[in-house]
Amino acid sequence: MGGKRSRVPGGVGWSGPGRLAGKMSLNFSRRLDAIAPSATLAMNTRSLRLREAGHKVFSFGVGEPDFPTPTWIIDAAYEATKKGATRYTPVSGTTTLRKAILEATQTYRRWSPTADMITVSSGAKQVLFNLAMVLYEPGDEVIIPAPYWVSYPEQVRLVGATPVFIPSTLERGWKLDPADLARALSPKTKAVILCTPSNPTGAAYTPAELAAIADVLRPHDCWIVLDEIYASLVYDGFDQRSLVAVAPDLAPRVVIIDGVSKTFAMTGWRVGWSIAPIPLSKAMDMVQSQGATSTATPAQWAALEALRSPALEFEQMRSLFQLRRDRLVEGLRAIPGVRCGVPEGAFYAFCDITEWIGRRTPEGTVLTDDGVVAAWLLDQAHVAVVPGTAFGAPGHMRLSYAVSVENIDKALARIGDAVAMLE
Ligand code: PMP
Repeated sequence: MGGKRSRVPGGVGWSGPGRLAGKMSLNFSRRLDAIAPSATLAMNTRSLRLREAGHKVFSFGVGEPDFPTPTWIIDAAYEATKKGATRYTPVSGTTTLRKAILEATQTYRRWSPTADMITVSSGAKQVLFNLAMVLYEPGDEVIIPAPYWVSYPEQVRLVGATPVFIPSTLERGWKLDPADLARALSPKTKAVILCTPSNPTGAAYTPAELAAIADVLRPHDCWIVLDEIYASLVYDGFDQRSLVAVAPDLAPRVVIIDGVSKTFAMTGWRVGWSIAPIPLSKAMDMVQSQGATSTATPAQWAALEALRSPALEFEQMRSLFQLRRDRLVEGLRAIPGVRCGVPEGAFYAFCDITEWIGRRTPEGTVLTDDGVVAAWLLDQAHVAVVPGTAFGAPGHMRLSYAVSVENIDKALARIGDAVAMLE
């Protein structure tokens, strides 16, 4: 294949579509020209290779809790399967699961949608993919605050629409400035995607900050996509609210994205959902009916059990994340050349490492950008991080603290040692 480009920093991964043996009939769709593979997953593949070669790798790369799914959830899925939960379900999910999602939404978001506003898919990623298929088309702009989660722009591009990025800064706590949003909105704006707490920065918006964003959005005719998959992972008593609860008048154009992956340590089960106005929900249902039918039935039963579990069962995981966050942020800040804020939620630390760029390793490699830094940290310190460029923020790196405190300490020492050798 004639690789056209590699947009993944450090040359990790795949290089664009091409022609097979020059035969027109074997070409891939031009749609692929617009997108790149997931950089986070590419970094994971590279560290897996090191592991296979017998190295101990400290993996801060991939965004999933390191805890196993609680056994009672696994048991519930198994029991349901034995009782016949082995067939297709309705496209938008079982009635019981949607009811449980509804109840959880009422409890935690202080907002009451109806069950026909809920569509269950194979992970929040598929929800967002279905949404892109339904909403965006060539000529549309989709506003994405940067740093952003890697899949947002790729999904927008895949359907021929244009992502419009609004950068933020460490000084602003990586949050979208409402004045910048006001400037970016245009008649072409089809949607604004807001992720809070954020992957990759961990930044979460306070109710006042959400209200200020809602004020800017109110006069504009656009969809508001709220990715709240990390909503239950906030720290220091942060007052986590949904924009839809802060500004209920905007509900007719709000889509909430959520799922079980992060909250319940269930990434592999692939259950996510949207809560959207009924016509949009029906359209997403239609796309899903032609793309995936329904989400795996045993996984839906597992998700149901997770949602029915007392919140207290997951409090230990949340408080452990907080402990790790504190340890990691403090340790990173002690390393020369690293600037890092204290994230309010999720399980990521996002650091400015521009001071390392341009420096030389003892082996003679010049750290020309964050992709080279990430590759160097992996090869030298065996610490896997994701370069900021993947999230639209060159000169940065993201560390996922789904890693034990012990390993955080060890990895920090290794990074510190490696950095001390830089010329
Ligand atoms: N949104 C954000 C912000 C994420 O970080 C992720 C997972 N990395 C997803 C959506 C997708 O989650 P899943 O498909 O596992 O439900």
